[in-house]
Amino acid sequence: MMMMSTPIIQRPKGTQDVLPAQSQQWFGLLAKASAVLESANYTRIDTPIFENTSLFERGVGDSTDIVNKEMYSFEKEGRSLTLRPEGTAGVVRAYIEQGLHRTAKPVRLYYAGAMFRYERPQEGRQRQFHQFGSELLGLDTPQADAEVILQAIAVLKTLNIQGVELHLNTVGTPEDRLRFREALKTLLAPHLPELCEDCQRRFEQNPIRMLDCKVTTCKTIYDGELVETFLNTFDWSAEAVESFKTLCGILDKLNIAYSVNRRMVRGLDYYTGTVFELTSNQLGAQSAVCGGGRYNRLVETLGGPETPAIGWAMGVERLMKLATHDEPPVLDFYIVTNQPAEAFALAEQLRAKGARVEVDLTHKPFGKQLAQADKRKAVHALILGDSEVLKKQVEVKKLESGVQTAFSTTAFLASLG
Ligand code: ATP
Ligand code: MG
Repeated sequence: MMMMSTPIIQRPKGTQDVLPAQSQQWFGLLAKASAVLESANYTRIDTPIFENTSLFERGVGDSTDIVNKEMYSFEKEGRSLTLRPEGTAGVVRAYIEQGLHRTAKPVRLYYAGAMFRYERPQEGRQRQFHQFGSELLGLDTPQADAEVILQAIAVLKTLNIQGVELHLNTVGTPEDRLRFREALKTLLAPHLPELCEDCQRRFEQNPIRMLDCKVTTCKTIYDGELVETFLNTFDWSAEAVESFKTLCGILDKLNIAYSVNRRMVRGLDYYTGTVFELTSNQLGAQSAVCGGGRYNRLVETLGGPETPAIGWAMGVERLMKLATHDEPPVLDFYIVTNQPAEAFALAEQLRAKGARVEVDLTHKPFGKQLAQADKRKAVHALILGDSEVLKKQVEVKKLESGVQTAFSTTAFLASLG
């Protein structure tokens, strides 16, 4: 069999490295986002990076682009497995399998990790990307919707992300959704021949999702007056209208701006009720940083007890582009030495006090070691040679000024608190 030769030293298309220069910001961002959710009593959950393919077929939905086109699936021992394209299905699988549904409700969870989708790579769109997401399971109230949306906004605020807009919609009760679906089909049937191939498929499988299409010819129809009038006059159930009103009322009271977008329906087959997106005007074409919605039918669909739930996911790479970042870490001490055991012992004591410490491992003359301390932009060099060890001292050199002072090791450590 002819194999295409693949370069070894080249990462696969649509993937990225988090290099040392970015990792501080990357993990800092995740830590800050996690702290926001922890402070609201959400707890982290980690599920496998691959699951049985059937979980996503069921949990994301047969009619979605994800399941139809974007999954990385492979076979082992006759079973089909898939690299997770999103986080909710795995979380809900664990929720059912591990009996979390028997704990006190609501259950508040968050997760972070790599996701995989076979998409056309472009700015802001990768094949391996990362999501930070949260789920609130066990409540179907507009208050729960509000909390979840507010938490997403709080994360973006903590990361100092500017130009954020909240887009809201409701896809109604499951019954509404069915009626909406049929009415939309009737409305669009005459236009079917003009629609793109994907929309022709969606027309059969998941017509609601057609409204999300980005193809120009389709968009012209969906953005047109015919659909506009239909959307504005559709008869949503009182229950859906009331719930959406309550949610909007809470947001209004908190002075949170939002726009209602009747065409925003979002990905999962099982979304019901509130759906939302947070975008940033700083991102260009792929402007969505966060997408979420209520999925009251998913737990049941996967074989668990009837459990309403709502959640969201943010794209970490997109957050990275938008967040203001902390200063890179400072190297507090660089130990210049020909006494490795003493140097390691001193380093450990300093690290225990929270300092960032590097030990020179070259055993070269001290002049050369000091040059390394400069190169690494250390604040202090600590010189620990034969005579210092003998006198139980350390020479502390402030690298900016060049001022050097001898301290007894005990006094020096004590001075650091
Ligand atoms: P889009 O309409 O941009 O394809 P989506 O509806 O597929 O978005 P979700 O599945 O809701 O996106 O994922 C939530 C968030 O994850 C998105 O708002 C985005 O920030 C991020 N995201 C989704 N797909 C990718 C990708 N391929 N590369 C980078 N980030 C992504
Ligand atoms: Mg997508």
